[in-house]
This record gives sequence, structure tokens and C-alpha cells, in this order.
Amino acid sequence: MEQTRERKLNPIIEKLARLQQLDSEIFKHQCIAQEKPQQLAFKQAEIAQWQASLNEFAAKNKEYRKKTDMLELDLQERQEKINKLNLQLNTLKSNKDYQTMKHEIEAIEADNSIIEDSILKSMADMDAQNKKIESARTKLAELEKDLCELKTQVDAELKIVESHIAQLNAQRAEMIRDVEPEALATYERILNNKGDKIAIIQVNDESCGACYMNMTTQELNTLMKNKELVLCKSCSRILYI
Ligand SMILES: [Zn+2]
Repeated sequence: MEQTRERKLNPIIEKLARLQQLDSEIFKHQCIAQEKPQQLAFKQAEIAQWQASLNEFAAKNKEYRKKTDMLELDLQERQEKINKLNLQLNTLKSNKDYQTMKHEIEAIEADNSIIEDSILKSMADMDAQNKKIESARTKLAELEKDLCELKTQVDAELKIVESHIAQLNAQRAEMIRDVEPEALATYERILNNKGDKIAIIQVNDESCGACYMNMTTQELNTLMKNKELVLCKSCSRILYI
């Protein structure tokens, strides 16, 4: 059965079908070659994301640092004021003045205690940010190392794939010398228009093997005669039976 079909197959079709096999192989390797750098891009995107997080943590940390510094400065000024008032306190003659200043000192002291709590809170926030910064840095170092390893691996794999593609292309250049120019031009026009790089396809169960369009009896008869190139009415690929 297979032998009969082989014998009957138009030689042009036969050459194009063989060329298609090779082109599909080339396409497969080109896809692999295109995918490889994408692996690097994914890793780089992940690194960029972590870097952005790290910047965010660092900016927040700076804010908390600034806030803590301001609160500490405020507290220091208040403490100095208390010291000054305490010195003055002993120089006061009237009991009323003494009590007034004493209250003033107590009020400042009460506020200071609130400020001290705020300082503790702000320092705890800083601590939390520092921990986040530290883990982001660790993660980034890991990712950078991964990227470096991946790059070496991808480069090596790409080299192999590209040399394979070069070999296949050399084979192709040899093969097309033997294909009738007009048929080759038709084939290549279709090939370049198709995303899946399939230009010639076998009819399967009386329909196009690529787009599954059913053949009419007349089309099937023309195909069976095996004399001219028949294109699928739906997807324009070259058909054979
Ligand atoms: Zn079709």
C-alpha cells in the first residue's frame, strides 16, 4: 500500500514533502533558540522585582530613621529644658511660682514619656524594615547567582542549537537545488506566511491535514491524478494524497 503511494507520488510533491520535514526540523530548533533567552528574561524580571522591593524597604527605613532622629532631638531639647527649669526651680522664692514651674516640668515629662514610646515604636519599625532589607538582599544575591549560572547554561545550549540549525540549513541549501524553482517559490511563499511553518500537508480522511477542510470529489480526483500542485481552498497549503 505504502509502496503504491510512493510510486504514484508526483516527484515534485515528494521533494517538497521531504523539504517540509527538514523545514519543520529547522523551525523546531529555531523555536528552541528563541525560547532560551526568554528563560534569562524571566530571571531578570524576577531580579528587577526584588530590586524594586529592596528600594522600597530602604526608602521606608530612611523615613523611620528620619522620624526617630527627629523624635530623639525633640526629646533631647525637652530634657534640656527640664534641666534648665529644675535649676531655676531652686531659685524661686514664692511657693506659687515654685508650684507653677513644678507643674510645667511634670507636663513636659509626661509628653516625654509619650515621645519615648514613639521612639521605641519607630525603632521597632526600622528593625522590621532592616530584616526585610536583609532577606531581600539574600534573595537578590541568590537570584544573581542563578542568573549567572543560567546564562552560562543558556549560552552553551544556544551554541549547540545554532550549530544544529546551521547544519540543517546547509542540508536545505543542498536539497533545494534539486527542487523545481516554480514549485519551490510557491512552497516558500506559503511557508513564510504560516506561523507553524507548514506549507505542504497530506490529505487525511478526505480533508486537509492542517485545517481539516473537507475536499470535494473533484478536488480529490485532481489530487489523485497527481499532476499539478493543488492548494487547500481554505488554508492555501499544498496538498497531496
Ligand atoms: Zn487546509
